[in-house]
Amino acid sequence: MSRKFFIGGNWKMNGDVAFVKSHVNFINDTEIPANTEVVIAPPYIYLDSVRKHLKKEVGVSAQNSYTKSSGAYTGEISPEQLKDLGIEWVILGHSERREIFKESDEFVGEKVAHALATGVKVIACVGEKLEEREANLTEEVVFRQLRAIADRIKDWTHVVIAYEPVWAIGTGKVATPTQAQQVHIALRDWLRNNVSAHVADHTRIIYGGSVNGKNCRDLSSEGDIDGFLVGGACLKPEFSDIVRTKA
Ligand code: PGA
Repeated sequence: MSRKFFIGGNWKMNGDVAFVKSHVNFINDTEIPANTEVVIAPPYIYLDSVRKHLKKEVGVSAQNSYTKSSGAYTGEISPEQLKDLGIEWVILGHSERREIFKESDEFVGEKVAHALATGVKVIACVGEKLEEREANLTEEVVFRQLRAIADRIKDWTHVVIAYEPVWAIGTGKVATPTQAQQVHIALRDWLRNNVSAHVADHTRIIYGGSVNGKNCRDLSSEGDIDGFLVGGACLKPEFSDIVRTKA
């Protein structure tokens, strides 16, 4: 089975109009390997402009979406509205959403289900905190987070799972290829035992947390690491090296 290598660039709350322009030009000038899918996730207010000017072979993702289609939900954006702009993807369950904005596993599961039902593809994030890893709770935590999603969806075709250990995000403390691979295998086994062998074999499980232009090749040599969700380094020129990991 072949899983197309996947690179996501999560801008988080970074960028301005000038950056949008230069970054879109930069990505448009980057040759995307045929075996790699690239998706970039700017803040909401730049989605439309990025989608209009970015080459079509690169996908565009929002960083969040709500569980409803429309209505009195001040400050929220629905997957229907993303679809209206031609935005193909949304990142859901990022640890910053879970931590800072107190999003529960169930809420993330509902968002994933609603986005997929609307026809927006999902990068679903899971990952343990440092104290959870130190207490040997990594698998318990990521399985619980995944369960809340699995209980609400049937079709996994348009789901990419991002394993992002919280202790590795924005810290420069990347997981070793072995550490990441161990959790990726555990997640794939969980899918095999709780969803189906087909879903386990075909769902891409990508790694996120301090990925950069230097460590991406080593990480990608592990058989169950199907790509990366990149934060800080996606804003820098080295992003083209990460995009070209498999070139
Ligand atoms: P980082 O962020 O690459 O800056 O560690 C990754 C993420 O939060 O998706």
